[in-house]
Amino acid sequence: MKHVYEIAVVHGDGIGPEVCAAAVEVVKAALGSGSPLRFTEHPAGAEHFLKTGQSFPEPTFQACRAADAILHGAGGLPGVVYADGTEAGLDFTLRLRFELDLYANIRPVRLFEGVQSPLSGVKAGDIDYIILRENSEGLYAARGAGALLRGEVAVDTLVQTRVGIERIVRKAFELARQSNGAPRDGVRRVTCCDKANVLRSYAFFRSVFDDVAKDYPDVATEHALVDAMAMHLVLKPGHFNVIVSENMFGDILSDLAAATVGGMGMAPSAEIGAANGFFQAAHGSAPDIAGKGIANPFGTILSAASMLDWLGLKHSDEKLSQAAERIRRVTQACLAKGLLSADLGGTSSTRQITHSVCDRLAAAA
Ligand code: ATP
Ligand code: MG
Repeated sequence: MKHVYEIAVVHGDGIGPEVCAAAVEVVKAALGSGSPLRFTEHPAGAEHFLKTGQSFPEPTFQACRAADAILHGAGGLPGVVYADGTEAGLDFTLRLRFELDLYANIRPVRLFEGVQSPLSGVKAGDIDYIILRENSEGLYAARGAGALLRGEVAVDTLVQTRVGIERIVRKAFELARQSNGAPRDGVRRVTCCDKANVLRSYAFFRSVFDDVAKDYPDVATEHALVDAMAMHLVLKPGHFNVIVSENMFGDILSDLAAATVGGMGMAPSAEIGAANGFFQAAHGSAPDIAGKGIANPFGTILSAASMLDWLGLKHSDEKLSQAAERIRRVTQACLAKGLLSADLGGTSSTRQITHSVCDRLAAAA
C-alpha cells in the first residue's frame, strides 16, 4: 500500500480532453476526500505537435514512465502526420506500448442494462467477456521491419516469440481465474483465437497456448479460428469468458465486440506491463464530435475503474478496488436509468453524465 499514487494524465486530441476530464472527476468522486491519488497533467498529441512541432515531449514520456499509472483521453487527428506519413499523436500510445513493454491489452466487453445491443434477443448480462490482445509483438510490432520493394511489393513480418506468447497466455488464465463466473454457463474458460490452420506463426501460438494450459487445469480451454470467432462473437457472445489473441486479431475483434455492447464509446481498455499500466478507452479521438460536449465518457470512466483495480491489486490496497467496483455499479445504475449519450440513442451530454455519476458516487461514499 502506498500513501500517494501518482497518476500521469494526458488529455490528447479530439474528444480526448472531454472524456479524460470526466474520468478524472469520477475517480475523485469515487475516492472522496483523503484520496491517495495525485493527478498531474502532461502534454502530448497531434494538437501539441501542431503548436510546438513535437507530439510526445521527452518530459511527458519521463513523467509517464515514473508515474504509478497513466490515464489518457485519445490521440491523433486525421491529416496531422509526420513526413513519413505516420500519424502524429498515435506515437504516444505506440511509444508507451513498446518502450514500457505493455504486453497485455485487456479489453472488457460487457453489455450494461439500458444499452441497446444491435444483436437481437440479447440483454444485459448476456455479454460479459474479456478480449486479451497481445500488445507487444505480432504483425504490428514489426513496424519498421516491413519493406516496400521497388515501390511494387510490400512486405510485413509477423513475429511471435515463445516468451511473448507464454506471458500473454498466462495473463489470460489469471484473468479467467479472477473473473466472477462471467460466462453464462459458469465455466471459467480461455479461448485461444488464431489462424493455426494457415499460418505457422499462429500454429506456434496455439502450441505454446496448449503447453501453458497444462498449468491451469481448473480453467477450460478451447481453440477458435479468427474467422469463425468473428461469427461467434455475433451469434453466441454469451459463451465467452477470456479470449486471447495475437495483436492484430485482437485489435479487429475488439472493435467488433464493442459494437455488440453499444459501440466504441462503451469500450474500455487497459495496457499492462511488468511495471507500468496505461489506461484509455479503445476508441480514437472522434474528431467529428469533438468540442460538441456529446462524447460518451463511459469508455474512459470504465478504463479508469480498471486503473483502480490494477493499482489496488498491485499494491494490495482494497480501497482502490472497492472504488473501482463502486464506479462500475454507478455506471450500471446510470445507464439503466436512461442516462445515455447520443451514440447510445440518448440526449445526455458528457457533462450531464459526469455530474450524475459523481453525484451518485458522492451519495454512495
Ligand atoms: P483510431 O484510428 O484512433 O482508432 P478511428 O478512426 O477508428 O480512430 P474512433 O475515433 O475510434 O475512430 O471512432 C470512430 C467513430 O465512432 C467516431 O468518429 C465517433 O463518431 C464515434 N465514437 C468514438 N468514440 C466515441 C465516444 N466516446 N462517444 C461517442 N462517439 C464515439
Ligand atoms: Mg479504430
